[in-house]
Amino acid sequence: MRRGAKSVLKIAVLAVLLCVLFSLLFLSQQLGDLNHSLRTRIDVLNGLLTQQQAEISGLNEQIARITEATGVAPADATPEAEAENDVSGVWTPAPPRLWTEYRPYQELYPALYAKRSERLFARDKTVYLTFDDGPTIHTARVLDTLKEAGVKATFFIVGSSVARLGEDGKALLRRMADEGHTIGVHCNVHDYERIYASVEAFLDDFNAVFNLIRETTGLQTDLFRFPGGSVNSYNEEIRSELIHEMERRGFTYYDWNASSNDTAAGLTEESAWRNAVSRAGGTKRIILLMHDTKERTVLALPRIIATYKDKGYSFARLTNVDKPIVL
Ligand SMILES: [Zn+2]
Repeated sequence: MRRGAKSVLKIAVLAVLLCVLFSLLFLSQQLGDLNHSLRTRIDVLNGLLTQQQAEISGLNEQIARITEATGVAPADATPEAEAENDVSGVWTPAPPRLWTEYRPYQELYPALYAKRSERLFARDKTVYLTFDDGPTIHTARVLDTLKEAGVKATFFIVGSSVARLGEDGKALLRRMADEGHTIGVHCNVHDYERIYASVEAFLDDFNAVFNLIRETTGLQTDLFRFPGGSVNSYNEEIRSELIHEMERRGFTYYDWNASSNDTAAGLTEESAWRNAVSRAGGTKRIILLMHDTKERTVLALPRIIATYKDKGYSFARLTNVDKPIVL
């Protein structure tokens, strides 16, 4: 009997051991399956993530292309100070605004190109003296005054004014360049209806004075001022297309935020001075419009310079690294 009981016990123990073994095997298989299914799920999620990252980078490229084509940066990428002329600092200019359609005038004047600056600077407490429409018989005195005061300025030249003075006109351009002033394009013939008749007409006029400056001084200017300012009643119909084209060619244009108003009829030397300094002190960065075609400007200039000096301004000529002031 004892022997029989022992055998039964042995069998029972063996059965229990076998059960435990099978349970362990079963559990391990279940865990293996679970592990496999989790791994598969992780792989699927990783695949989805990669796909979404590719879509995001595709969208970013699309935004960059649209920004380049339109020149309009997404609203949150535009620094707040961008629209503010009265602040010093460094800016990265918007890429040139590209006209997306082909225009035959894009092939005209293949040498009429300039290199745009990749950085723009706005200097604090600086006045840029600018003289339009010359040179004239008054220009030498303007240059004398600037020399005495140790001040550099900018002259936006009219080709027909140079021609009117003959060799003296060319000598004045060379003197401006030699004495460290900036020479920019204004126009060849100061006739709004003619130059703003079409983009082609503007380019034709611009090219003539651009070449005159280069042939006379050896300088290839990269900046200009629109006759009448960039916004005037004569260029309304072609304005947007014209600005696109000039920017495409790499040229930078400057309007003004102060004026001596020296072309107004009957204006005295006193009023020219008063107008020229009316924003001194209140505005940190001033592009001052004057004309070296008027004697009252020549007479008022020493006092204009002295007033800005008294108010703590520095003087600078414009170069295409200076952040434009646009009307
Ligand atoms: Zn003018």
